[in-house]
Amino acid sequence: MKKKLISMSLLAVVFLFSGCGNNAKKVTNDAPISRSNFYLGTYCKVTIYDKSDESILDKAFNRIEEFDKMLSINKENTEVDNINDKSGIEKVKVNDDIFKLIDKSLNYSKLTGGAFDTSIGPIVKLWNIGLDSARVPSKEEVTKALPLVGYKNVELNANEKTVYLKEKGMALDFGAIAKGYIADEVVEVLKDNGVKKAIVDLGGNIYALGSNKEDKPWKIGIQDPDLERNNIIGYMYSSNKSVVTSGIYERFFEKDGVKYHHILSPFNGYPFNNEIMGVTIVSDLSIDGDALSTSTFSLGLNEGIKFINSIPNVDAIFITKDHKIYLTDGIRNNFSLTNEKYKLAN
Ligand code: AMP
Ligand code: MG
Repeated sequence: MKKKLISMSLLAVVFLFSGCGNNAKKVTNDAPISRSNFYLGTYCKVTIYDKSDESILDKAFNRIEEFDKMLSINKENTEVDNINDKSGIEKVKVNDDIFKLIDKSLNYSKLTGGAFDTSIGPIVKLWNIGLDSARVPSKEEVTKALPLVGYKNVELNANEKTVYLKEKGMALDFGAIAKGYIADEVVEVLKDNGVKKAIVDLGGNIYALGSNKEDKPWKIGIQDPDLERNNIIGYMYSSNKSVVTSGIYERFFEKDGVKYHHILSPFNGYPFNNEIMGVTIVSDLSIDGDALSTSTFSLGLNEGIKFINSIPNVDAIFITKDHKIYLTDGIRNNFSLTNEKYKLAN
């Protein structure tokens, strides 16, 4: 059977420059160690700048592989397959990782009034965006699948550590939140092994650990959504922060001149159609950044800005289809626009 992975962005959306600042002082002699591998439908890259012990990379990638096995769908006996197979039949015992993913997801579903919903699985499967089998489903198919989407029918029991999808045919899809959680877990592995300077890049889902070799915050570029991969719209400096982008250009396909992207409305089963081209979230934890990037995208520009401004220690950079940049309050002094095609709008 063809291995099908959970839907995740294929393109890096945030570029990173390891160089920084003008007058670099302390530079260690060790070259960084780095490894890149294809897991979970995306390129996962870990670079360590202050240790040369390759076994740390082994441990980091073992953790990523663990998630790859756990979260893949349509591979027999994965945790997620099992939950989905038992929908409408019985509750399923889940491990701590899956429990946390579902718990966090339900929290963001409540905060967004259901716009963010990891029970979007049946709709994701209809569209298959990002796979060769991507297509526009018929209205009938969408109408039939929609009642199977609904976070209120996901029953999570904290005492038993079980989950039950109440309707037969329901399916969880962690594409909007898993990379963030895995990034956090990889960072934990690195910290446990004494690493203080590293970049974790899971297909553009970036965590910047500590500082760079010159003991300065990392310089992180935000990609130009017009898919010019080596171009950025601007940059900022970050230490111990996650930087995650959701956008219409990450995964999409075109049919009869219409572009269909991968963030789908749990309300009507079609891609959300709003003014946002991409939204980047800067947060302490990447699980929050990942969930919030998708959540904010689904809320649209005005609601999205209000939403992020209401959450402490989280900031956002919005890029709209008319090439304007909107910033939340906390990032105004830390974002430099470098691309003339774009204008700061607030
Ligand atoms: P991201 O790139 O983090 O914004 O996540 C997008 C992925 O999340 C999609 O490829 C789907 O697998 C899944 N997804 C799509 N729409 C939603 C939604 N409304 N809520 C939660 N997950 C979604
Ligand atoms: Mg996300």
